[in-house]
Amino acid sequence: MSNDIPSSVLRTTAFQCVRCGLTVAAFAPDGRRRNHCPRCLYSQHVRDQVEGGPSECRSGMSPIAIAVLRNGDWELIHNCTRCGELTSNPICGDDNQFILMRMAVRPLAQPPFPLETFGDL
Ligand SMILES: [Zn+2]
Ligand SMILES: [Zn+2]
Repeated sequence: MSNDIPSSVLRTTAFQCVRCGLTVAAFAPDGRRRNHCPRCLYSQHVRDQVEGGPSECRSGMSPIAIAVLRNGDWELIHNCTRCGELTSNPICGDDNQFILMRMAVRPLAQPPFPLETFGDL
């Protein structure tokens, strides 16, 4: 397989969101490269996380969770809808804050045990 297609994808200055179709600038307003759509937060599986090279999967990657780094920065966890690969990437300043907050509070909103338990402690 040729590497021409993936490397040309990485060089482009804009991409189209695989889910909502929004045309997304490849660089955020703060100059950082972005890999996901600011509106629906979907990404596309174009890089192999383990080997670091281009991936031929090219399927959509759904945002499934927020991870908080030691320095307080938020990372978005993506899950490939086809091959199941997990990736983490920094959020951008103009990412959809409603979706970010919804994912961040989901574990607290849906605890796997009854909250009434705490009343008995
Ligand atoms: Zn989108
Ligand atoms: Zn994949």
